[in-house]
Formats: sequence, structure tokens, C-alpha cells
Amino acid sequence: MRLELVTVGAELLLGFTIDTNAAFLARTLSEIGVEIVRRTTVGDDPDDIVQAVRDALDRTGAVITTGGLGPTADDRTRPAIASLFGRALRMDEAVMAGITARFKRYGYANMPASNAVQAMVPEGATVLGNPNGSAPGLWIEDERGRWVAMLPGVPHEMRTMATQVIVPMLTKRYATNGAVVLSRTVRTTGIGESALAELLGDDGRDTVNGLPLAFLPGWEGVDLRVTSHDLPRADAVAALDGAEAKLRSHAERYVYGRDAENLAAVLLDLCRERRLHIATAESCTGGMLGERITAVPGSSDVYVGGVVAYEDRVKTASLNVSPDLIREHGAVSEPVVRAMAAGARAVLGAEIGIGITGIAGPAGGTSDKPVGTVWVATDVKGDVRATVRRYLGDREDVRRRSAQAALEQVRRSVTGSA
Ligand code: AMP
Ligand code: MG
Repeated sequence: MRLELVTVGAELLLGFTIDTNAAFLARTLSEIGVEIVRRTTVGDDPDDIVQAVRDALDRTGAVITTGGLGPTADDRTRPAIASLFGRALRMDEAVMAGITARFKRYGYANMPASNAVQAMVPEGATVLGNPNGSAPGLWIEDERGRWVAMLPGVPHEMRTMATQVIVPMLTKRYATNGAVVLSRTVRTTGIGESALAELLGDDGRDTVNGLPLAFLPGWEGVDLRVTSHDLPRADAVAALDGAEAKLRSHAERYVYGRDAENLAAVLLDLCRERRLHIATAESCTGGMLGERITAVPGSSDVYVGGVVAYEDRVKTASLNVSPDLIREHGAVSEPVVRAMAAGARAVLGAEIGIGITGIAGPAGGTSDKPVGTVWVATDVKGDVRATVRRYLGDREDVRRRSAQAALEQVRRSVTGSA
């Protein structure tokens, strides 16, 4: 079952409010096999609302709107859609009584007069109860069965109504036979989008086993997302398992997890199983790696601590990095990063030491060490690996990617996947 969403509000167009309603509705409705096939956002102008809803109805005959049901002059969804359906607005006494009672309960002597507009219901429309707010939702339908469900914009009101009212209504109306829209994310890191696509070859051009495939790059790596439509849950899970297995068979080396799994948590589990402890020595990431690790509950089993060794004398005093090494090769160099990792291991007492040193920018780059040059060393019981990367991107991006690369380098060492 396909429908369209129209979110209403100037604040959404201006970028002051992020359209979280759309994301929530998409996720919630996918659970019952209902798919949002197009989203439109308009401001509070009634003509824009009418046009967007009319076009959406022409395409799918089924539309949900959020926003613009409030009591103030900028809330125009109700009259706009009533006019689109050619219906007059009538005062609904039951809704009015509900709104008045709500104000009484909150201790107001009188309800502000403007709230009365929220009791205006288009002729023939069904009132959808809103347990968390004054404005009810509305369901309006024409003689051809084309419908619009209007929900409030306030996210917690909208969410309750979506799950308690809309989901049951649509389940009943469309009897989707238990079909769901289900996605699986296979998380990779340490490989670019196009290289990953090459690795997948014909098995991952735009579908995997017939399921649509999306490449989603970000600072953590490239997520591969496959989605199953119109299958009952058990079949959808089986189809996603098959697609995941195929993706892994091509890219196993780069895969660290699935769905919302986080590389730091994955690595901590691997280390815990193997009774390994981690110590860190960070320069350009300034503790970000330690933050990634300690953000995971239970990290104290594995993480002993770290040194933020920003100035050279801290590298020397706290990690025993020789001043000669720094003088000869510079702080951002292979010998120094190796000494940092080894120093963290020795000084802090752990099986695994991690060192990071680089130039996060925007200043400080040179022709042979441009901004974005980052050395990472991992020392796993004396098995030392040092790698260098040249990141593009801004300071934040360079730092986040560096911490992620360090975690991945340890993961590969620990799992023996070169
Ligand atoms: P409204 O029902 O249009 O008066 O919206 C009430 C409030 O809900 C606005 O001030 C926004 O903060 C919030 N809101 C409206 N639409 C959305 C949306 N699509 N996503 C997230 N928040 C929203
Ligand atoms: Mg609004």
C-alpha cells in the first residue's frame, strides 16, 4: 500500500525545525507494509497546502498531512483541505467540549477563544482522537475513496496518534496480510563507495537477490542497505539474510557489523572475549577515540585509559617517545606513531596500544604532510601496524574518521583479517 506525506509548516522550509515527523511515520508505517512513496513539505500558505495535497491525491489517492492544525492564524491545514474537498467547516460540539474540559483540567478559568477553531470539523469528516493535545486529527474521504488524514505537527502528539489511531485504521482498511517493509544495513569501513561497488560486482549493482540496494557513505564508513517490500515478516527476514550473506561474501574484510551496531562496541566485545585490554595515545583526536570507547556501556572491562598527548613534551614525558625521534621525523610520522602506541601499552599496562597523530587542519599542513595526513599505529601484543591516510574534509571530519580508522585497524588485527 502506497501513500504520500505532506508536512506543513514554514519552520520546516526555513530549516529551523527538522522534519522528524516524516521519518517517524515512514518507519512506523513500514512495519505494516505501508510505504511513503513521496514526501512534500509546504509552508503555511493555504494555496500551497491545497496544491500539494491535490497532486498527492491524484497520484496515490492516500495522503497523510502533519502540522497546521493549531489554534493560531498560521495554522491553515484544516480550512485548506476542507475547501479542496468542497466541504464546509462546522462546529463539532463533542470536540468543543473535549477542548474546554482539557483547559479546565490544566487550571485555566477560560479557554482562549482562538482554540475554538480546533473544534471546526469539515462536513462528513471523522474526528481522530488526540490523547496528548487539544487539536484532534481529522480523516476526510471523498466518494471515490480517496482520503487525507490530518495529524498535528507537535511530534509527541503526532507519534501517539500514528501508532494508536492511524496504524490500526490502515491495517484494517488495507488488510496487508502481514506484509512489511523491512531493511537491513551491512556496515563497512575502510573502503570507499566506488571501490566497494567494484568489489560487489554484478551481485551489488542496484539490487542484491532482487532487493534494492543503497550505498550510504558517512564518516563511519559506507553502509549498505537492502530493503524488502511486500513480504510477510518471516519471508522478509529470510530474503534479507540471503542478501546480507551475499554482500558479506564479497566484502567480508570490510564488514564490522549490521544495522545500528557501532564499531567501538563490536571491538570491545571482540577484546572482552579474548581478554585483551586497550590503552590509547591520542594527539590530533584529543581524546575522541577514548570517548568512542567509553561511550559504550561496560567498556571498563577492556579500556584501561589514555593519554591526550598534544604537545611534543607530553608525548615524551607521558609516553616515553624519544625527543630525538620527534626532532628527526616530526610529530606526524611513522616512527613517532609507533612509539606512541608502544608507549601507551607499556606505560598504561595493556595488551593493545593505539596511537594517533595527524594534522586535522585547517592550518598546519605542509607540502609533504598536507592537512588531513593522519598516522595510526596499533600494537597488539607487539604486532605493530602503522598506516597513513590523507583525509579530505574539515577538521571534525578528519578527527572522526581517524578515530574510526584506529578502531577498525585494531579490529582487523584482533580478528586476524589483515
Ligand atoms: P503545528 O501543528 O503546525 O502548529 O506545529 C506545532 C509544532 O510542531 C511546531 O512548532 C514544530 O516545532 C513542530 N512540528 C511541526 N511539524 C513538524 C515536523 N514535520 N517534524 C517535526 N516537528 C514538527
Ligand atoms: Mg504550524
